[in-house]
Amino acid sequence: MGEKIFRSDAEWKKHLTPEQFEVARKKGTERAFSGEYWDNHEKGVYCCACCGAELFASETKYDSGTGWPSFWAPLKPDNVATATDRALMMKRTEVLCARCDAHLGHVFDDGPRPTGLRYCLNSASLKFDKSK
Ligand code: FE
Repeated sequence: MGEKIFRSDAEWKKHLTPEQFEVARKKGTERAFSGEYWDNHEKGVYCCACCGAELFASETKYDSGTGWPSFWAPLKPDNVATATDRALMMKRTEVLCARCDAHLGHVFDDGPRPTGLRYCLNSASLKFDKSK
């Protein structure tokens, strides 16, 4: 992972749709079963919608039944960061892009083998690249 990327909200808005901005930069959540990728079964790499960092791969994607794209491991662990999220009276672990701090979703410990993790992400924070 290269250098961190910092941009103002005004700069991000120029590069993102309103929904991408709300989810990725303001920690929003898209409605379940509404996003572009929850039911995507193509082979490829899911990159950060904000900075393009390679985050997750189709090989670790699985159908969690939640309506959000779900993975049991990151593609490159160094590209993904976590933080404790105490919003909504719950203690959850937030998942972020390590390079630009985009909010991706949350990680839970009820995922499948081999990791037992469920990275529950927003399609709006991702950009699928089937050429990778
Ligand atoms: Fe990013």
